[in-house]
Amino acid sequence: MVVRRTLLVLAAVALTATTAVEAQRLPSGVHPEAYKLTLTPDLKAATFTGSETIDVVLDAPSRTITLNSAEIKFGEVKAYALPIAAYSYGKLGSQPVALRPLEADRHPQTATTTLDDAKEQATFTFADELPVGKVTLTIQYIGMLNDKLRGFYLSKTRVRNYAVTQFEPTDARRAYPSFDEPTLKATYDIALIIDSGDTAISNTNLISDKPGPVAGKHTVRFATTPKMSTYLVAFLVGDFKCTEGKSDGVPIRACSTPDKVELTRFAVESAKYVLHYYDTYFGIKYPMPKLDMVALPDFEAGAMENFGCITYRETDLLIDSKTGAIPAKKRVAEVVAHEMAHQWFGDMVTMQWWDNLWLNEGFATWMETKPIAKWHPEWNFPQDDAQGLDETLNLDAQATTRTIRATANTPDEINEMFDGIAYGKGGAVIGMVENYLGEEVFRQGVHNYLQAHLYANATAEDFWNAQTANSHLPLDKIMSSFVTQPGVPLLTLSEKQADGVPISQSRFFLSAEASRSGVSPKWTVPVCLKTSGKPACRVVTPEDATLPIPADVGMPFVYANAAAKGYFRTAYTPAQFSAILAKVETALTPPERIGLLGDRFALVQAGESTVGDYLDLVLAFKQDSSATVLDTAHKQIEKIDSDIATDEDRTKLAAVLRRQFSQIYTALGTPTKNESFDREQLRGILFEMLGAAKDPTVLAQARQLTDRAYAQGSTKDRSLDPRLVDAAVVVTSTNGDATLYEKILAASEDPSDPGQQTDALHTLARFRDPALVTRTLDYTVSGQVRTQDSWTVLAALLRDRETREQTWAYIRKNWDKVHAQFTTNSGVRVVAATGNFCSVKQRDEVAGFFATHKVDASERTLAKAIDSMNDCIQMRATQEPSLHRWLEAQSR
Ligand SMILES: [Zn+2]
Repeated sequence: MVVRRTLLVLAAVALTATTAVEAQRLPSGVHPEAYKLTLTPDLKAATFTGSETIDVVLDAPSRTITLNSAEIKFGEVKAYALPIAAYSYGKLGSQPVALRPLEADRHPQTATTTLDDAKEQATFTFADELPVGKVTLTIQYIGMLNDKLRGFYLSKTRVRNYAVTQFEPTDARRAYPSFDEPTLKATYDIALIIDSGDTAISNTNLISDKPGPVAGKHTVRFATTPKMSTYLVAFLVGDFKCTEGKSDGVPIRACSTPDKVELTRFAVESAKYVLHYYDTYFGIKYPMPKLDMVALPDFEAGAMENFGCITYRETDLLIDSKTGAIPAKKRVAEVVAHEMAHQWFGDMVTMQWWDNLWLNEGFATWMETKPIAKWHPEWNFPQDDAQGLDETLNLDAQATTRTIRATANTPDEINEMFDGIAYGKGGAVIGMVENYLGEEVFRQGVHNYLQAHLYANATAEDFWNAQTANSHLPLDKIMSSFVTQPGVPLLTLSEKQADGVPISQSRFFLSAEASRSGVSPKWTVPVCLKTSGKPACRVVTPEDATLPIPADVGMPFVYANAAAKGYFRTAYTPAQFSAILAKVETALTPPERIGLLGDRFALVQAGESTVGDYLDLVLAFKQDSSATVLDTAHKQIEKIDSDIATDEDRTKLAAVLRRQFSQIYTALGTPTKNESFDREQLRGILFEMLGAAKDPTVLAQARQLTDRAYAQGSTKDRSLDPRLVDAAVVVTSTNGDATLYEKILAASEDPSDPGQQTDALHTLARFRDPALVTRTLDYTVSGQVRTQDSWTVLAALLRDRETREQTWAYIRKNWDKVHAQFTTNSGVRVVAATGNFCSVKQRDEVAGFFATHKVDASERTLAKAIDSMNDCIQMRATQEPSLHRWLEAQSR
């Protein structure tokens, strides 16, 4: 699954402090082998009927069988015990499929069904003991097509309803009674009885489509699937239209509601490239008969890797291939590559249990930029990766973080695993060891691991043992130290001695207070020194006190994180840092510069360095040609502006930024037709920085560009430079009036291009005029904004220093309306967004309010938000004098 990036950063929750909850695992001794599902959804009445058979194997005679079910009404349940000889065998490609009964047992037993709602389980009890071996269950049931974006649910447009699915992690049980645990893999034969005009899409290819069983309906059947986990099943019903392509002989389709099918072409192009890339990289061919990718109007996550049938939020699949802006295209290509990576990591080879979710999500996150970076090297993915690593290190440097592998038993605990640790840290640790082993050695280890566990399950040990056996290097020690210990290592270097550089390690915290408490874990960490040639990598163990420096390092300084792939922060001596600073723009690559900015700013937040020293580093980037380097600095400066600066400081800081960057901006000139992506991005970032710093020239240009972009009404003119127009609209909206607001509001209500629509919705949150902020808030909770999006607007308004006070007051006053917008997972994200506050008064208000206004499963998120506020309050107290001094010195 892909989760929205903002959400990953906000929603990481500590699981280490969890109270003991009764495990909700199924009893052992019964294994499913094959499911046959026939579902008849009623899209108007929002219900469905199900007819299911499950072939199971019993390890011991039993009178009961327990499986998972939720919000299911059971009809008749029977068990047929048949001798083995009465079954036939089938095959799908090289995959054996389940045994099928040739004729029904003449004496089936009927079960009595008892439900345990708290455990989401149903138990079938039979009068006589069922024998060891194969038993077939037949189950008749009724379920509901809910509006909670999980299980089998309704997804709506203004025109009609769609019945679609989202099962990961524990919601397959809402669509079909099942052994809903990842190791209990089985094959599936799926049939759907649907309205005559509708189509259906599922994991495999359609094998028959016949009218009936009643007038006005037709029955579609899909081929038998390979063995797979319950959470990867999908079936989608509606009037979807698709664009088609083919890669390595596999048919590929990207589908949407009929009005948006023109926006599916770019996704097909991406998938064609990625499928061939993965076939080659993994050395294991894509296993399904086809690949479908379907955009759904209501969808909670970013996308979901159902085997052969990937589902997406519209904004993560649909884009105009001609006029779409490159950052939006990058996002679509990246999400496509992420979900396709899961077809190997997750779908073919699945984690044994949710505690190792990182085996799915860490791998897909690490892999998602790899094929796209090869396809479009000019899109600078290594720089994005460095920026993502920096964000993850900050998240993991909070006292409330968790280990990559963590206990998760209940559905709530399992849901909480989908956070920045499973994705970001999992991916970053994999990237670090790949960088250490070298691409080809690592790739071979990946192949060996996958090959050994095809259509089965695996653990973290399976992975690092495969890599250790293949490379003969201590991958098991390195990976286990990062997977089983929480937090971020801080490597502190001292001045060079004869035998190398003295090095020590400790756990790094963003708060000075946390740093002082407890015994620090130690890691086995590969450290790659920057040299004039290939990086010199050494493994630093917990016992090592010296980092040997090769004689031929060929660098005027020591830099311990070549390629910026290391999962650690580095602290240098002042002399070492000065030596780096002197050559920062010429000797370090853009990812290394991003890593250095991140390390230095993290040390400021921890109270280990001053904001003045950090700003000196920013001023050293005088001629930086990398947009992502400047974007990193821009975000850090925004944090200083928001969390440390007084009003007077902000005015002075803006003047410094104008002085530093306006000449670079002017030198870039006006956009030309064929300029590079990086140059276009650089202009966009500088435009945003200078706009935020109230540069009069940029403000005027922004106003002019915005007026031109919306000259035709609410639809943005796409003939203009999209990057600059986006930046201009952001700058103008921040100072915008009601006339512009009306246009943006109209754009946010126009569903023809989901990307443009969502952008417009987020732009509404930029307006700072209090009357317009109130309008945005009223609109957000009016029921007109999809529940998948409304929380993002609230979170944006809570983040902005200028709008947070008003938003927070509004939320408290209108709590019933706000609360009504929350889906299963979004309430907790609004709680998390209050973690951006930075005052004692607001902290106490947040704690008091949520103590009496409960949000589901948010207790640990609230504790974490309060931690973040405390860290910020402390940082402001420590750094405010340093900022005053630095600004004073600048104005002299
Ligand atoms: Zn994923």
